[in-house]
Amino acid sequence: MKPINYRPAKIEIDLSAIKLNIKNLKATLAKGTEVIAVVKANGYGHGDVQVAKAALEAGATQLAVALLEEALKLRQAGITAPILVMGWVDPIFADVAIEHEITLTVFQSSWLEQYYANFDRQKKLAIHIKLDSGMGRIGLRTEAELKDFLTKIDHRQLNVQGVFTHFSTADEPDTDYYQQQLNRFESMLKIVRTVIKTELFVHIGNSAAALRQASGLFDAVRFGIGMYGLYPSAYIEENRPFKLKPALSLKTQLSHVKKVEAGEVISYGATYQTNQAEWIGTIPVGYGDGVQRKWQGLDVLIDGKRMPIVGRVCMDQCMVRLDRAYPIGTEVTFIGQDGDESIQLEEISAHLETINYEVACLLTDRLPRAYL
Ligand code: PLP
Repeated sequence: MKPINYRPAKIEIDLSAIKLNIKNLKATLAKGTEVIAVVKANGYGHGDVQVAKAALEAGATQLAVALLEEALKLRQAGITAPILVMGWVDPIFADVAIEHEITLTVFQSSWLEQYYANFDRQKKLAIHIKLDSGMGRIGLRTEAELKDFLTKIDHRQLNVQGVFTHFSTADEPDTDYYQQQLNRFESMLKIVRTVIKTELFVHIGNSAAALRQASGLFDAVRFGIGMYGLYPSAYIEENRPFKLKPALSLKTQLSHVKKVEAGEVISYGATYQTNQAEWIGTIPVGYGDGVQRKWQGLDVLIDGKRMPIVGRVCMDQCMVRLDRAYPIGTEVTFIGQDGDESIQLEEISAHLETINYEVACLLTDRLPRAYL
């Protein structure tokens, strides 16, 4: 059933931008390097199922998510491509992964023991081994840990498909730590290969790594933020191999317009006072939608022009200072293009002193997504 939306606010996702970003990346990568589309956290707020389907159409060969739930959602949507869950999943749920042909990330000897304790399985669990080369989050870290883990691999119960690691500074200009992680990973991989004789699918790079080096990334890159047309950092943006095309825009309409006399205040806390008689517009979007209170002071686009958000952002509404009267229903762009003006997530995240990833993820489900 088609969802019915009454509110005049929506996130538009341009799936052709997602496809273009993947195609452009594939054209720069060394031949044979595959693209794993990272669609965790509801596709970074863009919609996981729709993005996953577009990414696969554009040439991604696999999908990656953080949670088993996210993988199951993709399967339930009829997606049959390989899916890797990159986060830790409790071994008591391994059979769910087997049943739905979902690959899990494994890196603890104790995990294997718990998994083996529930025997009597007809099918093997597919796993990728995670190596912590210096991110300090999850993964096998020391040689001793790794060797112990490898001795516990039981090929009758496991299909060890791949090995991977994750960089913590791939988006920064200084490559020293990146290189250190790469060196550590390569020596750990050698140890893995002495024990696992079957072919392994090896992947190390996120968007930043994929955008800064075309080769040396083994079998695949895990393309997340860049696929959505967003840069992992300002440094990567400056040194990009091609221009990314942002896929997301957030649009709404003026729900109320009024002239306010000089010296009047706007919104909670009376933090904004008019200097002169001003036209004030009300927008039916607020922090309940992910437009946080700290967006106060940012601009929106109306009629191709920038207008500032004034006064505190409320849960469901906020106010803007207009340059003149506009009719109710006039389009307002929080994120995206209007005429020659554009406001991208990078501008918003800089104002919020955070990263574009976080701003996109925090746009809530209350905002309907429309796919172009
Ligand atoms: N690989 C892992 C393990 C991740 O956690 C993430 C995202 O945080 C990615 C790949 C994708 O990173 P990016 O969005 O920077 O491409």
